[in-house]
Amino acid sequence: MMIVMKPEATEDQIGDVVARVSSTGCSAHVSTGEVLTVIGAIGDREKVQALGLEGAAGVDHLVPILKPYKLASSQFRKGEPSVFEVDDVRVGGDDFALIAGPCTVESREQTLEIAHCVSEAGAAMLRGGAYKPRTSPYSFQGLGVEGLRLLQEAKEETGLPIVTELMDVRDVEDVAEVADVIQVGARNMQNYNLLTEIGRTNRAVLLKRGLSATLEELLMAAEYVLKEGNERVMLCERGIRTHETAYRFTLDLLAIPALKEMSHLPVIVDPSHATGRRDWVRPMSMAAAAAGADGIIVEVHNEPEAAICDGPQALPTEGFADFVAQLRAVADVAGKELAATA
Ligand code: PEP
Ligand code: MN
Repeated sequence: MMIVMKPEATEDQIGDVVARVSSTGCSAHVSTGEVLTVIGAIGDREKVQALGLEGAAGVDHLVPILKPYKLASSQFRKGEPSVFEVDDVRVGGDDFALIAGPCTVESREQTLEIAHCVSEAGAAMLRGGAYKPRTSPYSFQGLGVEGLRLLQEAKEETGLPIVTELMDVRDVEDVAEVADVIQVGARNMQNYNLLTEIGRTNRAVLLKRGLSATLEELLMAAEYVLKEGNERVMLCERGIRTHETAYRFTLDLLAIPALKEMSHLPVIVDPSHATGRRDWVRPMSMAAAAAGADGIIVEVHNEPEAAICDGPQALPTEGFADFVAQLRAVADVAGKELAATA
């Protein structure tokens, strides 16, 4: 913590702040400039904060030096990005992870057909919701345990690791049994009990940014998972709410380099939920790859017009291989390799 003194602060006032900082067991380093004096408090930040130095005589303002997120911060790994494995898929570093699949698991036929298509096209993981966070309580809420069973079958057939959402702590065991990656949806980003519980599993996590969350709030949410000992967390930018109404959400592409500067965790982009329209999914996918994302998560459907949810944003299975070919080329330009087609 840096304590910036007012230009007119007296020697006594400076001495008083130094004494109060020292009384906490922290050390105080005084730096006297031409105009003002700054005191660096080294040690337990919370103890210094508890002194309530804002408003003390001669004190102008306090500047925290360390970020409130610790385990998620890039400082924690001294600037080295995290690279980890999900099954045998490498996430982070020079790898680009393509996660693809339906919005929701609807039926055995639908799930397996899409799983085979995305697997053959070169996807690294299969997405699909068994528990769906729907705006309306009257909309389809997901197949639940039956949906998880179908995802398990798709994994057995294709070998693709499964990414699926957990919405309720009561389902954590069922979901963790099938999921290789537990998805935390945008609406649950600040469900701290859920985050803590997921932190206690040994499953990797895809943590989506809340609809109006700042990057710092996203990293604080990641901190809840990390502090339980679960280190395999991917951050996901999926569009945020802004004043713009011409599209569903604003895909915050700048979050990619910004998060990579703030944190060591891999960054995945979801262009499907950000745009809500399939014709915008392709340009935003390419933009995400060009901006250095560690992967994307996209919705794919064998019959988009008949999809139970999010049909308008689903890429059709037909032509998906062509989308992947373009994505591979763009990722390559950004210095990343999309896993080779099996
Ligand atoms: C989803 O990925 O299925 C989903 C509902 O996304 P989000 O939480 O980002 O809205
Ligand atoms: Mn969806």
